[in-house]
Amino acid sequence: MNRLYAPEKPLTFSGTGAMIKLADFMVQSGSKRPLVVTDSFLLKNRMLDGLLDFLKQEGCEVTVFDGIVPNPTFAVVEDGVTAIRAGKCDSVFAVGGGSAIDAAKVMAAASTSKRSVQKLAGILKVDRPLLPFYVVATTSGTGSEVTTAAVISDTETHKKKFFVDPKYLPIAAAFDTELLVSLPGPMTAGTGMDALTHAIEAFTSRARTPETDRDAATGIRLIMEFLPIAYANPGDGRAREMVALGSFLAGNAFTRTSLGYVHAISHQISAHYNTPHGLANAILLPRVLRFNKDACSERFAELERMLQGNTDQPYAPDQAQQFIDRVDALAKAVHIPVTLDDVQQKDFASIAKDALAEARSSYAVPKVMRKADVMKILHSVSTGSRSVIFA
Ligand code: NAD
Repeated sequence: MNRLYAPEKPLTFSGTGAMIKLADFMVQSGSKRPLVVTDSFLLKNRMLDGLLDFLKQEGCEVTVFDGIVPNPTFAVVEDGVTAIRAGKCDSVFAVGGGSAIDAAKVMAAASTSKRSVQKLAGILKVDRPLLPFYVVATTSGTGSEVTTAAVISDTETHKKKFFVDPKYLPIAAAFDTELLVSLPGPMTAGTGMDALTHAIEAFTSRARTPETDRDAATGIRLIMEFLPIAYANPGDGRAREMVALGSFLAGNAFTRTSLGYVHAISHQISAHYNTPHGLANAILLPRVLRFNKDACSERFAELERMLQGNTDQPYAPDQAQQFIDRVDALAKAVHIPVTLDDVQQKDFASIAKDALAEARSSYAVPKVMRKADVMKILHSVSTGSRSVIFA
């Protein structure tokens, strides 16, 4: 029998062969007609061959949907729902980054719902249990495999729409080293910095708890240590797994605390220019840390002492700047650019307005930004100056 409920945290499989272990678990749980959701790049590069062979051997009738694009749209989700209905699918198995996982979440919800995809956007809008839903995360950044959210782009309004409901948690997730090692350098860097952003925004959120602090801090430690190794030695499976675990813990933290201004601004940038989500976050992170420095001095200092292995040391304000310098050094080590050429001055005002609205409605930020602050950040992102002076 399939389990038609979502657990509090997905069961996880990791290491070499984790994707097949997850597929076996799905089959043993009763799925015989899965929809496999992925993108054409992963499919063409034969990264799913082992999975599809295994499912065939197990007697499954598989429908493959490879129409995922970065920053997926409502149309992509609707096409996936059509594929589920045509294939009479009894489960959804996503293989990919946040784009595949998010689109698959909403497909799994819309296929059982009486509501349209548009009507599922928002908070707690899922009216029926999802089709049993399983995830193989092939990037290590979004944490979508453990979050209760999905983000879908509305191409008409240039806005990203949020779908938030505990039912979006997958039943189980896998981090398969064989897939993670093929992530190219720029994607490794951008998605790793995305995970770091999640962890820092969770650690400095006003909605934090001892549990989210523990997961966020551990996520930061793992990403700081292992992201440069995974970037420099792409085939280092242990480093890849540690970054994936850091991203998972960061996701588990931020899905409880919410996010902050890095995400509020980057969502608008990606919706306007289709900028990769991780890259946009990575470029914004050092600027927003500087904006938050005074309000978060003790929190940044605590992270710095943890990273130095000196947790008994007393607080000193210098430690906050050392933490920011450390994030700058990591961004430099993984070649994150300082400038985003896409961002155009004519859009600054509307990006700022929408970013402030997103933060106001959704995030427990440590310090409130004004429109002028966002404009300064956008100016510095488009001109390449990292040092933003805030009044
Ligand atoms: P992505 O899923 O858009 O993937 C980017 C590219 O990487 C794709 O072209 C894909 O083919 C390629 N790729 C993925 N894995 C690979 C691998 N192992 N080897 C080689 N190539 C690989 O990127 P992402 O950053 O993981 O996801 C971004 C999306 O996630 C955005 O839409 C963002 O809004 C969303 N997001 C969701 C949450 C959430 O909680 N649900 C959180 C943050 C971001």
